[in-house]
Amino acid sequence: MKTLVVGGAGYIGSVVTRLLLSEGHDVVVLDDCSTGHADAVPDGVELAETDITNTADVLAGQGFDAVLHFAAKSLVGESGTNPSLYWRTNVSGTRALLDAVTEHEVPTLVFSSTAATYGEPEVVPITEDTPARPTNTYGATKLAVDMMITNECAATDLAAVSLRYFNVAGAAFGAGERHRTETHLIPIALDAVAGRRDALSIYGDDWPTPDGTPIRDYVHVADLARAHVLALTAATPGEHLICNLGNGNGFSVREVLATIEHVTGLPVPVTVGPRRAGDPARLVASAERAAERLGWAPELTLAQMVADAWEFARARVGRTPGTGPTS
Ligand code: UDP
Repeated sequence: MKTLVVGGAGYIGSVVTRLLLSEGHDVVVLDDCSTGHADAVPDGVELAETDITNTADVLAGQGFDAVLHFAAKSLVGESGTNPSLYWRTNVSGTRALLDAVTEHEVPTLVFSSTAATYGEPEVVPITEDTPARPTNTYGATKLAVDMMITNECAATDLAAVSLRYFNVAGAAFGAGERHRTETHLIPIALDAVAGRRDALSIYGDDWPTPDGTPIRDYVHVADLARAHVLALTAATPGEHLICNLGNGNGFSVREVLATIEHVTGLPVPVTVGPRRAGDPARLVASAERAAERLGWAPELTLAQMVADAWEFARARVGRTPGTGPTS
């Protein structure tokens, strides 16, 4: 297939790009590299370094079979202080992308959605029929895009799949997390293990969970990438299929930290701080629909996610953990 990966220089997009390439697909990446990294795009893949609003220029006359869309602003805190940036980039940007897809008759779209569309459901596991009530601007913009895609599929014959990620972790094919602003638990904890930051702050240990720390559903980025390739063939003209990607098993913050200590053989220095605004106590996915419709099931464990993220972080820093400053 000839595929355009929009946002292919970012964490998940760059892993999916490499998987597509390894499976013999023809891949072009579009990324403005505002948060992604040009060197995350593998050799042999053309990078169109431009804004998402220029998607039509890249699609024109090229006969693409599918667009995979990862480009978005994705920091929950920033989305609250700068909603304009999030509505413009995520929603207006995707509107331009959808118009380009229609104009150039690309039959298939796979969109990177998120569990943040659901907000804080009282019932877990979360299915795709759980009411979507986002509690932050980021989740609201992603839900708005999902709604636009539903309308687009109804109006045109677009075949679209939105994949709602829960907590993605790990590294694969030599690509991993390299966020300039890192907010996620596992990379921050690994930085603390490596001495690249003083300590991990646990955001509250008084939650209504067995050990008092919040529970999340972690998925290996390699499993996640596989779901995108499956979605390309599962997509059906005129239908917008929405699938959760999680493994149905939750781990608390303390359980994740214990896994990190086990895998690295090193202690994670921690402090206990206040709760982070907007954090739900427990988010766990039902991935039954992904199993039924995509034939997908996660295969890799939390320990594997940590091991791969650790190896990726060490390879990038290029020195023994704990001996050097931030790269
Ligand atoms: N977390 C934490 N300290 C940190 C980062 C995260 O205690 O420095 C907790 C956070 O409260 C949540 C879990 O780790 O319960 C996962 O957070 P992350 O930001 O990785 O993903 P989210 O679930 O917010 O998308």
